[in-house]
Amino acid sequence: MTRTTPPRPWDVASVFPALAGMARTATRLHPSPGDPTVHESSVGGPLLWPTDEAWPVCADDHHPHRLTTLEDVRTLRRILTQAWQRPRPPRTNLLTPDEQAVVDRIHAGHDPSLLPAEPLPLIALAQLYARDVPDLPCPDGTDMLQVLWCPFAEIEDSPSAVHLRWRQSGSVRDVLADPPAPDFVGLDDYVPAPCVLHPERVVEYPAAHELDHALTERVYAWEKEQQQGEGQGLSYRGDLSVAPGWKVGGWSAPWTFCDPMEVRCDCGAPVEPLLTVDSSEWDGESTGWRPVEDRDETGRPPYPDWDCPTMVTVGRGYTLQVYRCTVSYGHPPVTTLQ
Ligand SMILES: [Zn+2]
Repeated sequence: MTRTTPPRPWDVASVFPALAGMARTATRLHPSPGDPTVHESSVGGPLLWPTDEAWPVCADDHHPHRLTTLEDVRTLRRILTQAWQRPRPPRTNLLTPDEQAVVDRIHAGHDPSLLPAEPLPLIALAQLYARDVPDLPCPDGTDMLQVLWCPFAEIEDSPSAVHLRWRQSGSVRDVLADPPAPDFVGLDDYVPAPCVLHPERVVEYPAAHELDHALTERVYAWEKEQQQGEGQGLSYRGDLSVAPGWKVGGWSAPWTFCDPMEVRCDCGAPVEPLLTVDSSEWDGESTGWRPVEDRDETGRPPYPDWDCPTMVTVGRGYTLQVYRCTVSYGHPPVTTLQ
């Protein structure tokens, strides 16, 4: 099923002509739980990876408080999904005693000292075919991007925790059927649930921190006027500028828990937003971007969260912004929590 973002309640570029030249397109990925193949675009799905190419690893130090495993994360999610789907008479526990025992064992986790010292294989985060994602930049001779990451808390500002691999899909002859996987993961929330994508192109305007001060003041003054009039509850940040959720291209996410920082590649060149990994597809402030197909919650169990089909939560519900160097596709991505 396709996903359709409702039209913006205001054409903000007609109110502020200075914004018109700053319009950018972004491709919202609209992930939904599924069973993608290597030949499809996905989040958390299998990668079209040649057998003769080394699988990327993370060589950083990890300091987890607790360890779990990919299998345990998947088992826990399966048990909870099944439990929430069952009809449940009043005063009945959500879980059966057997399920509870498994869940307790998984929650206890493993001792962090078990983590091997050698580099850890990364896990698939996203696979994006250019044919599906109009805003995906690709170097000449390539038609897809694969993104892998390391499911530990040290994901930000780490040189090897997020890995980008552009490739030409037609050149992959033998596909790696059973890729390496880490023995342990540090955070359940960094294990993406397999999702198919329903890409949709939208127009964005910069978050307030990217505008000059005078324009920001005018935008906020106008916003206040609207909120006192017909456009009650309308906000530039939530409704009119940057789309929430997983997306490619467009403008970078607003900074939420810290002051905006200037982001540059290690080589000194400017960067541009490549992939936005968001902790929800919409939230209380950005419900105006919720697709029309996702509005009816009738009969839907509370688990998994409808606004978080990927089951990925970064930081305390922040956004991981993956930037690419504008000078070289070969430079490692810059990643910031925003
Ligand atoms: Zn660079």
